[in-house]
Amino acid sequence: MINKENKTIFDKLLIHDHEELIFCNDKKLGLKAIIGIHDTTLGPSMGGTRMWNYATENDALKDVINLSRAMSYKSSLAGLNAGGGKAVLIGDIKLKSKKYIERYASFINNLGGKYWTAQDVNMTTQDILWIKNVCPYVVGLPKEYGGLGDSAIATAYGIYVGMKASIYQITGNNSLENKKVCVQGVGKVGRKVVDYLIKEGAKVYVTDINNKNLDNIASKNVQIIETDDIFDVNYDIFSPCALGGVISMDNLKKLNCKIIAGAANNQLEDDINVPNELLKKDILYLPDFLINAGGIISCYHEQINQIDLEKVMQMTETIYDKAIDVFKYANENKITTHSAAMKIAVKRIERNKKKSN
Ligand code: NAD
Repeated sequence: MINKENKTIFDKLLIHDHEELIFCNDKKLGLKAIIGIHDTTLGPSMGGTRMWNYATENDALKDVINLSRAMSYKSSLAGLNAGGGKAVLIGDIKLKSKKYIERYASFINNLGGKYWTAQDVNMTTQDILWIKNVCPYVVGLPKEYGGLGDSAIATAYGIYVGMKASIYQITGNNSLENKKVCVQGVGKVGRKVVDYLIKEGAKVYVTDINNKNLDNIASKNVQIIETDDIFDVNYDIFSPCALGGVISMDNLKKLNCKIIAGAANNQLEDDINVPNELLKKDILYLPDFLINAGGIISCYHEQINQIDLEKVMQMTETIYDKAIDVFKYANENKITTHSAAMKIAVKRIERNKKKSN
């Protein structure tokens, strides 16, 4: 989302007006973490912790800046009273131990509830429970520990209703029957999206780099394609449910689809060129931070102590109407759907900023 390398840290904070970056260090444990707090106008910042062996510290910084900002927009659009935050642990996952995670949790605890964490890439349920030992500001707990369990349940439902809204936008009918849909990545979210699609009679194509995950769904009515061959088929919907950055100018030369609707965070390679190219190619893009909000909706309900999956799913279902609103706003203002979703999200934050001033 940001590509401005030769900037100071404060320059980077100023681009999207981040409130705080917290750098955490424990030499003995090899712990290096950055907690990014983008905006707390709507409530305490919330977003998962990701562990990644970044090539450079600058890459980690870029990631935490982009991801925390996206969390502000995600929570705002979803109508939650939550701000945007995210944290990155820098290094090989082999560094992780109970001590390491508890030390990291102590840094979160020091923030006194300004940042709430949850599980993200390379973090396990065990890690979340170790964080809970030290600090109350953690959500996404298993049901047996008083949480709402796997957030992928709500995330997948949001992707599904988002797909239905987008097909309605194009055809005037929201049925996915016989629609060709490619799900890239059949992990926790992707495989649940596949289930919804099969149930509705879509023609489902799947790809994954992990054969075990493909084996898990091989018995279902899906066509497995090699990762390198995904651009050989024309789809109604392409659903990125693996990693970010997959919608690039290069890939757009090869991708044939009418709609892009998936779970991965930060799917677009950049904020301007790629969305404009999507518009030019008449591909309807469902902004990731709108459609994948089911997970944060679930985490938010845990934070406010409403352990009620039905409520979470009801709120997640509103992604359908929100998607229709974004399409309308984009059409009326002749802007991309990505831009429209950001503007709607920022407007809500600004309105609340004014109220509190
Ligand atoms: P996951 O790790 O369970 O699944 C990701 C899958 O993608 C894995 O099976 C992996 O092998 C596959 N994959 C990775 N690179 C690939 C590639 N190049 N081509 C094909 N497959 C590839 O993760 P998840 O929880 O299912 O989440 C999927 C995406 O959605 C992630 O980007 C995540 O950040 C995002 N997301 C998840 C949630 C949630 O509630 N779990 C919420 C919001 C966003």
